Amino acid sequence: MPSSLHPLLAELARMPGKTVKLQASNSAMASLHRGYPWLYAERVKAESHRGQPGDLGVVYDGKGRFVAVGLYDPLSPIRLRVLRASKPGPIDRAFFADRLAAALVRRLPLQGTQTDGYRLVHGESDKMPGMVIDRYGATAVVKIYTHAWIPYLHDCLASLLEQQPLDRLVLRLSRGLQEHPAYLHGLRDGQILYGDPLSGMLTCLENGLRFEVDPIHGQKTGFFLDQRDNRARVEQLARGKRVLNAFSYNGGFSLAAARGGAVEVTSLDQSGQALESSKRNFALNAQVPAIAAARHLTIQDDAFRAMAELVKQGQKYDMVIIDPPAFAVRRSQVKEALNAYGRLAHLGVSLLVTGGNIVLASCSNPVSPEDFREAVCAAAIRAGRPLQGIMESGHALDHPLDFPDSRYLKCLFATA
Ligand code: SAH
Repeated sequence: MPSSLHPLLAELARMPGKTVKLQASNSAMASLHRGYPWLYAERVKAESHRGQPGDLGVVYDGKGRFVAVGLYDPLSPIRLRVLRASKPGPIDRAFFADRLAAALVRRLPLQGTQTDGYRLVHGESDKMPGMVIDRYGATAVVKIYTHAWIPYLHDCLASLLEQQPLDRLVLRLSRGLQEHPAYLHGLRDGQILYGDPLSGMLTCLENGLRFEVDPIHGQKTGFFLDQRDNRARVEQLARGKRVLNAFSYNGGFSLAAARGGAVEVTSLDQSGQALESSKRNFALNAQVPAIAAARHLTIQDDAFRAMAELVKQGQKYDMVIIDPPAFAVRRSQVKEALNAYGRLAHLGVSLLVTGGNIVLASCSNPVSPEDFREAVCAAAIRAGRPLQGIMESGHALDHPLDFPDSRYLKCLFATA
């Protein structure tokens, strides 16, 4: 099977040059010993030579003792992404096989849940820093965030295919990588690395609900897999309700609410394509009686403006779900993001019947759960509808949090 991986991958596997020896600040070495997966460029004290992305980098302490080995990337502020720390060992096919096997074991609880769309590898938290692998049925989408992965794709993906019955592998490149095309060595975003070209949409199952997935043009790798558990909770709460789902994308929460017995679900998004996709997803699941019975409406508009308009019209919902895109990617944007969450919370509670349910999510990495909760609660109080029975949740189990910096999703359930 590995022989039918794209032939370029075997060529690129021969690329790494001489291992780069690194010295790092004492505090950086201490973090590496504690398992922190990154060494920032500014904390490198010395390099034996300037290597190429994908060379191995090894950190030694002042006495020449091994600290860590990982993927070296001179183009990134993260100079080294650690594969092994404290104890040396080879970085070879067997190494990647072990890492993948461990990642697969963690996802075993998803078996028997009618879910074949889930994250197989969650980067740093699965000790595969800078790489995400999402699975949609028999297709896996491999997304890399550093050029340094390129020489290792062959061994890593060959072991993946040995361990998982997959028909197709699709490569996605983060935006940063596409800024340095010379270092891609002919690899392209959306390239098929294994299996047949994509013809039309893929679909995947999440807790028995079928969704279409476009792994090349869709957001993230095609679907927001991280909200699985939160959608299941919405399903539990939805019976008999009128639901507004703002920032609905392809209708993940809308479908969950409908299967849970919502009588009416309104999907609101500024993207016409996203709304069309949500309609197709309702059609894909029309064999479920509750979904066929639910009325699905769509509003294409800016969510802030549309919700303000609905408030003006005196519209009321039994449940309002608000799951916007990230408002902050940098610390300097946190204040503005919290303001936006506050405005959305204010609009959300204003649209609720007394005692209705509000679900508010934030995927802004630099916004802490505490700040998010506080901003949302304060806004609800200002609107005269304080939140009650607050429940907070986060990522589903295929997005483990072993690397705390990677925690981004916060989801708050409450009544008002
Ligand atoms: N809740 C979704 C994921 C949301 S992704 C899920 O469960 O899968 C964010 C969505 O917000 C995208 O579909 C994008 O089109 C939409 N969006 C971004 N800015 C918007 C705005 N100002 N008003 C309405 N929709 C917006």
